[in-house]
Amino acid sequence: MPTRLLTTVEEARDLSRSWRASGRNVVLVPTMGDLHEGHLSLVRAGLDVGDVVVSIFVNPMQFAPGEDFESYPRRLEADRARLEEVGAAAIFAPSVEEIYPPGETTRVEVRQLSAPLCGQHREGHFLGVTTVCTKLFVGCEPDVAIFGQKDAQQCLVLWRLVRDLRLPVDLVFSPTIREKDGLAMSSRNRYLEGEQRDRAVTLARALGRGRQLLESGERDVATIEREMRSLLAAGADRPDYVELRRVPDLERLDLAEGRVLLAAAAYVGRARLIDNLCLEVGEAVREVPLLDAHTLQAVRARHAV
Ligand code: AMP
Repeated sequence: MPTRLLTTVEEARDLSRSWRASGRNVVLVPTMGDLHEGHLSLVRAGLDVGDVVVSIFVNPMQFAPGEDFESYPRRLEADRARLEEVGAAAIFAPSVEEIYPPGETTRVEVRQLSAPLCGQHREGHFLGVTTVCTKLFVGCEPDVAIFGQKDAQQCLVLWRLVRDLRLPVDLVFSPTIREKDGLAMSSRNRYLEGEQRDRAVTLARALGRGRQLLESGERDVATIEREMRSLLAAGADRPDYVELRRVPDLERLDLAEGRVLLAAAAYVGRARLIDNLCLEVGEAVREVPLLDAHTLQAVRARHAV
């Protein structure tokens, strides 16, 4: 089946309602396009649950002043070919005016979880994310929406949003897809030039160092962060942060215990890169999903697939 291209909220909602009327789950995969294997892994996960619509929208509201909104890669034709190959049923690629009608003033804000980490470094970013995702959820009426755990703070902010508004959408947080050397795939990896590509793996290495320290019994968060920071500072051009925080509220801890997120953000050249590791810290240390109730398996079970 060819992948249908939809551009209005009305078309997206009509299609969603027709799928549901014929007994199929509607799965939304929100993206900004320039699709890579990370995005396609979300689509494949979605196909396990229902019919998939991929939204492609470079959302101006989630870019802070001076960021790369203008230069962000836009490749709708290539994206469409890849989605057709993978088997997505539809693309929803609205214009900016369709999502932000002239004169609009409505915002959806999640407090607290939006404040630390990327919230401190990207002014208004999560307000843009939560506003656009609310519009996509209300517009497309998905049963399930899938996001990458690569953007772990985004996942937690959206988890809070869905709970607070009691939105009838079930969220899946899907594992991070990496290049062979460990670099998390990202559309912004395109910006890396020459030797910058080798240095980009520093984020994953710094997080790996944090994990090693935890595995060797270190629990003091200040010590772990200091070590991760010095590694990141050695490889990145401008580190934004590298921190250990509690999941799911992203509060600070003095001693690492329970479910924690190691999260890093840094510029390498003009690419702002982020990465994270979610770990359960007890007697042993193991990598775990961000939230057990939001793995693909858990959501599949709830949707009787
Ligand atoms: P973006 O187009 O960058 O806004 O990303 C769209 C969705 O793809 C988000 O839910 C991201 O978390 C997810 N995503 C981006 N990169 C990866 C990756 N390397 N692995 C898994 N998911 C990803």
